[in-house]
Amino acid sequence: MGTCVIFVEEQHKMKSTQIITLIFLYILSLISCKEEVGPDLIFHSANIYTVEEEQGNAQALAIKDGFILAIGDNKSVLSAKGSNTKIIDAKGQFLMPGFIEGHGHFTGMGNSLINLNLLNTKNWEEVLSMVKSKVGETKKGAWLKGRGWHQEKWDTPLQEHVHGYPYHDELSKLTADNPVILFHASGHSLFANEKAMNAVGISKETPDPIGGKIIRDNAGQAIGVFEERAMKPFREAFNSYEESISKEETYALWLKGINLAQELCLQQGVTSFQDAGSTFKELNDYKTLAEAGDLDIRLWAMIRESHEDIESNLSPYPIIGAGNNFFTCRAIKSEVDGALGSFGAWLLKPYHDKPGFEGQNTTSLKDVVKIAKLAKQKDLQMCVHSIGDRANRVVLDMFEAHMPKKGYAEGSRWRIEHAQHLNPADIGRFSELGVIASMQAVHCTSDAPFVEKRLGEKRSKEGAYAWRSLLDSGARIANGTDVPVEDISPLDCIYAAVTRKRKDNDLAFFTEQKMSRAEAIKSYTLDNAYAAFEENSKGSIKVGKLADIILLDKNLMTCSEKEILDAKVTMTVVGGEIKYVR
Ligand SMILES: [Zn+2]
Repeated sequence: MGTCVIFVEEQHKMKSTQIITLIFLYILSLISCKEEVGPDLIFHSANIYTVEEEQGNAQALAIKDGFILAIGDNKSVLSAKGSNTKIIDAKGQFLMPGFIEGHGHFTGMGNSLINLNLLNTKNWEEVLSMVKSKVGETKKGAWLKGRGWHQEKWDTPLQEHVHGYPYHDELSKLTADNPVILFHASGHSLFANEKAMNAVGISKETPDPIGGKIIRDNAGQAIGVFEERAMKPFREAFNSYEESISKEETYALWLKGINLAQELCLQQGVTSFQDAGSTFKELNDYKTLAEAGDLDIRLWAMIRESHEDIESNLSPYPIIGAGNNFFTCRAIKSEVDGALGSFGAWLLKPYHDKPGFEGQNTTSLKDVVKIAKLAKQKDLQMCVHSIGDRANRVVLDMFEAHMPKKGYAEGSRWRIEHAQHLNPADIGRFSELGVIASMQAVHCTSDAPFVEKRLGEKRSKEGAYAWRSLLDSGARIANGTDVPVEDISPLDCIYAAVTRKRKDNDLAFFTEQKMSRAEAIKSYTLDNAYAAFEENSKGSIKVGKLADIILLDKNLMTCSEKEILDAKVTMTVVGGEIKYVR
C-alpha cells in the first residue's frame, strides 16, 4: 500500500508526459496492491457448518491476518485470491469452528501426561502394576504422584474394602522407599501409601479436618484414602518436596507437560481451552508463554487460590486478550462441594446408598460470598463448582443475592461449574438469573454406572445431567470434559451429549435428556464462547471472527451416531495458522 500513496503525493509536481506514465504505473501498482491485500489462506470445496442461525450453503472461506475475511461459494471466494494466497482443497470435508474446551485443567492435563496416568485402569491390580513399574524408574525417596483411578469403574470386586476402597497394605509393600499419592479421577480424594502417611504424620489419633474425611477401618486406622480437605497435608508435603527440587527443573517439567497438552488439544481440534482454576504463579506462566508467542491454543482461565491470598493479588486482573488474544483471565473459581462418586456431592436429602449422609460442604459459604464480592468489585466472572442439588441451590441463592444485575451486556455470566444434580425446582432459575450451566456431557455417561446407586431412581431421572430440561427452560449450557478427569475428546463428549450412552457398552442414562446434534455442537463452540464473553470473536464461522477452524473427515450433523466416535480431526487452524495436519 505504501507505494500507492507515494505515487499519489508526487504526481502533483510532474510534467504531463511523466504524469501519463505515472498514471499508468499507478494503475499497475493498484493491481499489485489488490494482489497484496488478497487473503493469506482460502479453503474451498468444504462442507461448512457455521454454527450461526443462518447456515446458508457456504463452501469456501478466506482468512487474512488471522481473522475470517470472507465466506461464500467457491467461485466468489476464490475470485479474491492474491498471488500469495495459499489454497486448500477441503475435498468435501466438514469445516467448523474449532472446539472450545469449556472446563478443563491445563496444568493438570500436562501433569497427567508426564505423571502416572491411571485414567484407563480397570481394577486395583492394574493400578498396583502401573505403580510398580513407575517406582522402578524413580529414585529412592522421591515422591511419586499419579491420578485417575476410580473404584466405581473397576471390573473386579475387592476382597477387602471400606466403602469400595482398598486398603493401602499391598501398595505400601511395593513402594517402601517412596512416598506415593494417587489422586482419584475426580480430584476430590487421594490414595496414600504408608510412607506418605508417615511423612505427614497420620495416626489413629489424627482427627478428620473440617470439610474432609479420613477413611478408616473398624479399628479407626486410616486405610489410605483421604477425601476433600483431608488431602491438604499431602498436597503441602508434595509441594515442599517439589520446592526442594531446583526451580529450573520444576519449570522444565511443567513446560514439558504443557507442550504435550497443547499438542493433544490440537490433535483433538481444541483451539481454545477454558482452564477451571489456576494459581497466580501458573496464570503468570501462561501469560508469559502467550506473550512470547509460545501458546498454540488460546487459554481463558479462572483464578483459583486460597481465600487468604486472593484479595491481595488481584490488582493485575482481569487480563483480557494478552499475547495476541492467546491469554485471558477474567474469572474466579470457588467450590462448595465435592464429587458424587466419593460421596462429596452436597445433597438436599441423604444418599440412597449411605443413609443419613448428605455429603460435604467443602468451602464455608461465608468464604464463597467473600470471593463473590471480590469478583463483583473487580468485574470478574464468578464460577462455583457445585455438584449436589443442595450445592446448586445454595449457589443459585448466593448468585441471586450478589451477582451484579447490570454492567455487562446481557448480564454478568456467572457460572456454575458442573451443575450436575439439580432439584427440579431449581432448573428454571438458571435462565431466569442468567447463570451459565457449565456442564460436562461425558461425565454423565462416565458416571452412569453409579449415579442411580447414589441418588435413587427419582432424583436421577428428574435432575441428573438435566440438559434437555435446562435447554428447554432457556438456559445456556457450556460443555467440556474436565480433563484430566476425563480424556480431552470433544467427539466422545458430543457423542455422550447426543446419545447419553456409554461408548464401551451402550449403557444408556435417561435418554430423554439428550441434546440435538446442533445443540451439542453449539454447546462446544458458540455457547462456550458466550460463557467466556468471547462470542464476538470465537465460536462460529463469521466474517471478522478469529480464524480458529477445524476440518473433520465426517459430517457431524449427518453421520451415524457411531461415526461421531470414529470421526477424525484432519486439520486444526488457530489464528489462520495451520497448527496440525493429520
Ligand atoms: Zn474441574
